[in-house]
Amino acid sequence: MSLFSRYKKIFCYLLEVCILNSYRARLFCTPGLRQTFLDFRINLVEQLLSITKDHTVKRRRPARHYHAYNPPTLKRVHGLRKCILCVQNGKNNVTVFRCPDCDVSLCILPCFEKYHIENGL
Ligand SMILES: [Zn+2]
Ligand SMILES: [Zn+2]
Repeated sequence: MSLFSRYKKIFCYLLEVCILNSYRARLFCTPGLRQTFLDFRINLVEQLLSITKDHTVKRRRPARHYHAYNPPTLKRVHGLRKCILCVQNGKNNVTVFRCPDCDVSLCILPCFEKYHIENGL
């Protein structure tokens, strides 16, 4: 028997002891609970799998808006548009930046951040 397989056996044994102790602790803490050790293990595995699934979903779709340039015009590489937030505040600032997710043009500072915080985005 190699050293690695011996450690593997010890690890598996310790893991079994941990799961069994958790099961005993659960039975102790919730009197009247009718749950077999097998049901407890299945429940545990399902919960661990659901945690992993949630993580992949979160990583794949970051809830964040990024700035981009306005589309080009005949005269300019990055078109100039009025900043929607400045217009709301009675100013006439123009900008080359926009948020593609919200489909609005915004000054990069400070309107871009301000607009998204105000709208909870
Ligand atoms: Zn946005
Ligand atoms: Zn602005």
